[in-house]
Amino acid sequence: MEKARKRSLALIGSLLAISPVYGQLASSGASNASAAAKWITLGTNGGPIPAKSRSQPSNLLVLNGKHYLVDSGGGVERQLAQMGLSVSNLAAVFISHLHFDHTAGLYTVLGLRWQTNAPQHLRIYGPPGTKKMVEGLLASMIPAAEIGFGISGSTTRDPQLEADVVELRDSDTIAIDGFHVRVRNNSHYTVEASERNDSSAQSLAYRFDLPGRSITYTGDTGPSAAVVELASGSDLLVSEMIDADFAIGNLRRAVAGGALAAPEKVIKDVEKHLRSHHLLASDVGELAAKAGVGAVIVTHFSGRDVDDPRHLGYLREIAKKYNGPAAIAEDLDAF
Ligand SMILES: [Zn+2]
Ligand SMILES: [Zn+2]
Repeated sequence: MEKARKRSLALIGSLLAISPVYGQLASSGASNASAAAKWITLGTNGGPIPAKSRSQPSNLLVLNGKHYLVDSGGGVERQLAQMGLSVSNLAAVFISHLHFDHTAGLYTVLGLRWQTNAPQHLRIYGPPGTKKMVEGLLASMIPAAEIGFGISGSTTRDPQLEADVVELRDSDTIAIDGFHVRVRNNSHYTVEASERNDSSAQSLAYRFDLPGRSITYTGDTGPSAAVVELASGSDLLVSEMIDADFAIGNLRRAVAGGALAAPEKVIKDVEKHLRSHHLLASDVGELAAKAGVGAVIVTHFSGRDVDDPRHLGYLREIAKKYNGPAAIAEDLDAF
């Protein structure tokens, strides 16, 4: 991991001038309870297909010694462990949308917190539907609670008290722990040309206005005027990115090789989804430029990995539109 990160930095350094913010890339400072806000890309894979070198989407916002999980993909507990943290350390969770690559690790978080007697009651923020999802997860823990741990006379606590949910909608702003969080419905779920702002099917981009620093996280999105507006003037933009040609090529190879069954119409539909509901490298550059952000990092990465010389092409595509610092994050990088 360490070696790969250094190699990535060297490659990025050969292409772009690295701003001081990237001097922190190799640090793993989540255990350092400094007042400065830090963003850690726990899992940088663009789901849902698991990857060898990247964990499923999850991030950690660190502020004043508190840890906020932003999306909770599978494997999140191990990524936290690699930072010297556990699921009990979490102050709150923010979920961008309800696709399983962003939520599967939430069950682990809740279950392990219950099993290890972590402070009860985790606050979870998310789009409409999050309440129903979390209620289902907590209900599914009841049989384990009824069975207990084989210790006579002991009782287990009620799993349904482990968490509560605050659902957020487009343009909502909340204040917690001395900072503000604003959300916009992005274009990840868009079915027509116009973005739907009043539907219950919302996929949220988050802006964290922290003491001395603002960070915008796109979540999964296609090009979106709402996300541009939300990210406007942010110090750091954390953006998803997909190489749609590469992803479709992989899909076609999997179908041709018999690993996957998908008729041509399904492949075409998937391609349309990837191109309109996610961001190409050039879209990331355009978003960063339009929003006038201080720096952009790519996560939820779906494309040729760092060992492929073509990996650098993504940064070149971004640089055509945006002339600020840019990097493709790896797991456990800190910004
Ligand atoms: Zn995703
Ligand atoms: Zn998604």
